[in-house]
Amino acid sequence: KEKGVSEGSTLLHGKYELGRVLGHGTFAKVYHARNLKTGENVAMKVVGKEKVIKVGMMEQVKREISVMKMVKHSNIVELHEVMASKSKIYIAMELVRGGELFNKVSKGRLKEDVARLYFQQLISAVDFCHSRGVYHRDLKPENLLLGEHGNLKVSDFGLTAFADHLKEDGLLHTTCGTPAYVSPEVIAKKGYDGAKADIWSCGVILYVLLAGFLPFQDDNLVAMYKKIYRGDFKCPPWFSVEARRLVTRLLDPNPNTRISISKVMESSWFKKPVPRKVEDV
Ligand code: ADP
Ligand code: MG
Repeated sequence: KEKGVSEGSTLLHGKYELGRVLGHGTFAKVYHARNLKTGENVAMKVVGKEKVIKVGMMEQVKREISVMKMVKHSNIVELHEVMASKSKIYIAMELVRGGELFNKVSKGRLKEDVARLYFQQLISAVDFCHSRGVYHRDLKPENLLLGEHGNLKVSDFGLTAFADHLKEDGLLHTTCGTPAYVSPEVIAKKGYDGAKADIWSCGVILYVLLAGFLPFQDDNLVAMYKKIYRGDFKCPPWFSVEARRLVTRLLDPNPNTRISISKVMESSWFKKPVPRKVEDV
């Protein structure tokens, strides 16, 4: 019987040594790991096959891996290699050391310049994905990792869709994501455009960075969905006029009139020059 995975154990014929746990997901644990031959540090996502098969998610895990191979970009976590044993899949990725953007924003809202620095990188990564027909569908601060010098990396392609998964109507139909970040048209379950749904989530993220709290919040899920559906939110008084304008265009409940990524990039808030490093802000 195969040995379980635990801190300090070596993996895959002694190729990697596992360190501490970096994070937990639904089916996976992500460990700090070291390639014993090269000395390189990586993040090792370990997925239990049995659990994944039981809930019918194996296709999704395979999709996560093939998507990561397709999207090489400076603001997207890089895939190194994929290995498997009898009971587990091992995904060796670029190690991003600064933790989740979620942790940073849970300590309080960010200055507009800092938020802009992160948001520009997020949009750059999302634009790149969309140009390759990849829709992330679970964009949120928990899945945005921070590297050195304020570098942002999009991670967790576990819920992505491909453009070739569109139904005859040209729309996606799987309802997924995280309630507070999900767009009205995804909630409506009538089919949606993956790009527009991602843009909505970027709007929620921008709001959260600038406000320090969620735009649509309620203890009752149905009540929260109603607010999302109506686009019922208020910008706090400290938002600049330009930020307010952009957030309002991103969180347009009508996907047909919602701002496009190219227009986001042309907006005055987005284009304002930022100091090079977060430390300088
Ligand atoms: P799941 O798909 O189960 O949500 P994730 O891929 O989001 O799993 O990984 C879970 C957590 O592990 C992340 O939220 C993050 O804290 C950590 N993590 C994931 N990938 C990396 C990485 N490349 N570098 C550092 N930490 C990571
Ligand atoms: Mg995740």
